[in-house]
Amino acid sequence: MEDFLDTNITYLSGVGPRRAELLGREAGIHTFRDLLYYFPYRYVDRTRFYKIHELDPDLPYVQIRGSITGFSSEGYGAGRRLTADFRDETGTVRLVWFKGTRWITSTYQPGVEYIVFGKPGIFNGMINIIHPEIDTAEKIEKSINAGLQAQYSTTENLKNHYVTSKTISRLVESLLRQIRYRIPETLPSFLVSKYRLMDLHDALFKVHFPSGTDEMERARYRLKFEELFYIQLNLLRYKVNRNIRTKGFVFSNVGQYFNDFYHNYLPFSLTGAQKRVIREIRKDLGSGRQMNRLLQGDVGSGKTLVALMCMLIAIDNGYQACLMAPTEILASQHYQTILKLLGDIGLEVDLLTGSSTKKVRRDIDEKLRGGTLNILIGTHALIEENVRFRNLGLVIIDEQHRFGVAQRAKLWEKSPDPPHVLVMTATPIPRTLAMTVYGDLDVSVIDELPPGRIPVKTMHFTEPERNKVFGFIRNQISTGRQIFIVYPLIRESEKMDYRDLEDGWDTITRAFPAPEYCVSIVHGRMSTAEKDASMKLFKDGTAHILVATTVIEVGVDIPNATVMIIESAERFGLSQLHQLRGRVGRGAEQSYCILMSSNKMSKEAAKRIEVMIRTNDGFEIAETDLQLRGPGDIEGTLQSGIPFDLRIANLGKDGQIIEYVRNIAGEILANDPMLESSENLILRTELKRVFGTRQSWSNIS
Ligand code: ADP
Ligand code: MG
Repeated sequence: MEDFLDTNITYLSGVGPRRAELLGREAGIHTFRDLLYYFPYRYVDRTRFYKIHELDPDLPYVQIRGSITGFSSEGYGAGRRLTADFRDETGTVRLVWFKGTRWITSTYQPGVEYIVFGKPGIFNGMINIIHPEIDTAEKIEKSINAGLQAQYSTTENLKNHYVTSKTISRLVESLLRQIRYRIPETLPSFLVSKYRLMDLHDALFKVHFPSGTDEMERARYRLKFEELFYIQLNLLRYKVNRNIRTKGFVFSNVGQYFNDFYHNYLPFSLTGAQKRVIREIRKDLGSGRQMNRLLQGDVGSGKTLVALMCMLIAIDNGYQACLMAPTEILASQHYQTILKLLGDIGLEVDLLTGSSTKKVRRDIDEKLRGGTLNILIGTHALIEENVRFRNLGLVIIDEQHRFGVAQRAKLWEKSPDPPHVLVMTATPIPRTLAMTVYGDLDVSVIDELPPGRIPVKTMHFTEPERNKVFGFIRNQISTGRQIFIVYPLIRESEKMDYRDLEDGWDTITRAFPAPEYCVSIVHGRMSTAEKDASMKLFKDGTAHILVATTVIEVGVDIPNATVMIIESAERFGLSQLHQLRGRVGRGAEQSYCILMSSNKMSKEAAKRIEVMIRTNDGFEIAETDLQLRGPGDIEGTLQSGIPFDLRIANLGKDGQIIEYVRNIAGEILANDPMLESSENLILRTELKRVFGTRQSWSNIS
């Protein structure tokens, strides 16, 4: 019976080979099942009728009842169109068609009562509806859908070939009429009854043609539950299997170097959160299972120190460790920091980046293979083929979102047995997203900043207030502080951005002239040597101001810098703004983040700025970001992504369901890790069907 749903969509009436090809290419609909699982993205209440005098262009889709008073042709060339005046007792609205006009005039007659459905717009001061849907009142009443009407997303290409939301709805309707059996359940019956879910058959029918809001919501809940449940079950199953299959190196000693460092080199006492996280990691490292842990901690929470202490544990057990950062600036900063922290403790630490010379590489290679190199720090140069460790035991990846999943996988191959992996990120990922994107990782959180930090004050200014801002900068510089000024750099408009940067540079060097002031600059078009030289000027306190593009976004640590000025702040995303703000507020002085923008900005941009001013809490910002942008964009940023699209659930909005089903999946696996019992058989079948041919991102090695 299941085979029926695998029928090629060509066999559905109303779908010929050309339409089938189009549906496949544009909407991924190849089979009956694909169509059935092509869920509406929203519903329109077809019980609500508007009067024509109520229409205005801000309304979403509306439904009106009335009749056509006459047709006429207007315009020339591409602007050529058919219009019809449509009226009810309250007024007239213009209907407009650019295509299919002959069909329209031969199908619809003046004087007949129609129901018109569409999005009101405005042209030449008159309300119009372009390419409306038109039905006879009688036909609407006969349709199996009297209440909520499903809206399906379509592409431009689909619409050009007359496949609209309504076409899809009709195809679904025709498919449902052909299904003469009950679609078999895909969740075990104990789950369906325990959680009072609508059964699959009903849910699939009602989601397309609900009679009302209640029914629609119950159907959607059931389908979301299932979608998210299987994702979580799949992730957790990999985790369980990995633990059963692979043995991790056992780091049972917390020995010489760790203790020596802790007692004699640590420049301050650890925060409670740092201690807790180190304990969590130590437990993993000693457990005999391979660690895969995500360490989240807001900017400035002290992740580097945690990383170092974990590397010392690896070394105490006779292993090498490496730390990978996304940019050369960051890698070399980590290198400097760690050299300084370790002092004369007697460990060999090296730096490897894209610009390391051949000689340095050869030297590192020798020490790596010989096992005398304890810690290697670098950029993705670390994962090049020819870098071979003798016994790599721990890999730490800083600022994970800059690394692709495939890059993470390459590290696994660096030694015969998979090393322990700690992924550190300062992008506070909302819990629910973390549970899905990094669902196979364990998560530790540093939720406490080192003591004595004063929260950064955030302010917003527009262009006319620039002089005031410059006055403030002079003031700060006169008390010995340093200033960041950051310009946006967005790939699509790189040329324009560099012009902004150059203009900005002119303005700033004029307002802060040499020799009284020293301004340095860092951007992506400079060579590494030039960048290093500029950074050095700023780091050693010579330069008062650092003008930069977003290269300094992550990690750069200069405690004496107290002002972060973000130019064209309206063009940055929330998490980027937060990252940039994290560059200041690292010392004992009050720090400031100044958001510069033009007067005009979008509603979303204004909301982002408002949130930045209101809170310093990275998690709150991440949650808002998720709501404003939607998870798709954030996944894009994280570059990890889910290897398939969610059909119905929404990572931003369905967080509660995610937590709920994750617990349920966890319970099931705790009792039956390999899903062998007969009542769990269906789970295995479904996992195989849903994920069988897809590569799981948790199993990329
Ligand atoms: P991030 O989590 O952003 O990577 P860092 O590791 O760069 O943060 O730490 C930020 C700053 O805080 C550094 O200057 C570091 O020396 C300092 N720091 C880290 N841990 C502590 C602590 N326990 N007490 C005081 N300062 C600390
Ligand atoms: Mg860092």
